[in-house]
Amino acid sequence: MRSIKKASGLKERYGLSTKKEGVPIKRKKIAVIGSGPAGMYAALLLTESGFEVELFEKEKQLGGMLRYCLPKFRLSREGIDKNEKKLRELGVKIHLGEAVGKERPLEELAESFDAVLLACGEWKERRLKIKGEKLQGVVHWTKFLRQYNEEKAEKLNRKKAVVIGGGDTAVDCARVALRLGAETTIAYRRSREGMPASKTEIEAAEAEGIEFRFHLNPAAFRGRARLESIVFEKTLGQGREMRPTGKLLEVKADIAIIAAGQLLDQDIFEGSKWKSLEELPEKIVPAGDIANREKRIGAAITSAAEAVEKINKITGN
Ligand SMILES: Cc1cc2nc3c(=O)[nH]c(=O)nc-3n(C[C@H](O)[C@H](O)[C@H](O)COP(=O)(O)OP(=O)(O)OC[C@H]3O[C@@H](n4cnc5c(N)ncnc54)[C@H](O)[C@@H]3O)c2cc1C
Repeated sequence: MRSIKKASGLKERYGLSTKKEGVPIKRKKIAVIGSGPAGMYAALLLTESGFEVELFEKEKQLGGMLRYCLPKFRLSREGIDKNEKKLRELGVKIHLGEAVGKERPLEELAESFDAVLLACGEWKERRLKIKGEKLQGVVHWTKFLRQYNEEKAEKLNRKKAVVIGGGDTAVDCARVALRLGAETTIAYRRSREGMPASKTEIEAAEAEGIEFRFHLNPAAFRGRARLESIVFEKTLGQGREMRPTGKLLEVKADIAIIAAGQLLDQDIFEGSKWKSLEELPEKIVPAGDIANREKRIGAAITSAAEAVEKINKITGN
């Protein structure tokens, strides 16, 4: 938790120098897409390097996952608001509620700016593609966490919630379900040691009374009108290893929250000739979650700093 608070102070955490002494003001223009930690930090670095920066964010507020996904009991929004104030003071032009792709093609931005820093994160939930995934009572993490953070989530008084996944997102979903009143279990397909969630978050969840069950790989959701149970296949294996056994186990559930991974939303390519990150020209530089394997705040910020260096080179700054 402390690390998130520190990271939302962006450059303070990483001690990266943002000032370039004696650099004359350039009029070169850079578009930054996305205002998560990577986009906000990049906008700060680019502005202080003398670029004119415009930031495009599809949501109504800045902050990315830190604002819309992390539960407020884990992270106050104060740090994000401070960083927004700083960006505005530095003269960054902020376009809120503008989705690149759907409303303004990426190609158009690439034509009208000297370079584009793409930090749109990975907001498409990974589907399990198993039977019953569309039943009422089966939800994906993005919708579930967003509803909670916007104070629109339904109470789950004494309902049985099963969270499927093993990352920080799964643990946060479980802690939210518990606060909404559910009896909550996390079901993970590998061993405890194979869980990617941070140890401190796992311990916090256990201390709150969340049950963890390992070696359970979801095979189907069952129910008539709505979810009644989840069928799992038992697995074997140590660490990240996972071997199917063919043995099934049915677990009662009123709500299943799927937190099994995140993907780049292809909407970003709408209206453009490019259809993947690999096809992008040199002047569009990816940063943040879309540009690293770790999918954590620290890695997003480091990759933003690297992307800014690349933009400095490309534009001859
Ligand atoms: C529930 C949860 C808990 C987490 N817990 C931790 C933790 O404890 N520690 C840790 O280090 N990391 C944690 N993470 C991961 C961390 O939040 C991410 O790694 C980080 O936010 C990635 O930053 P980013 O800037 O790349 O993308 P994001 O934060 O995803 O921001 C991307 C931004 O781009 C915007 N965008 C997307 N598409 C478009 C478009 N077409 N046009 C305009 N804007 C667009 C989005 O709205 C968003 O604001 C957690 C993530 C989640 C979901």
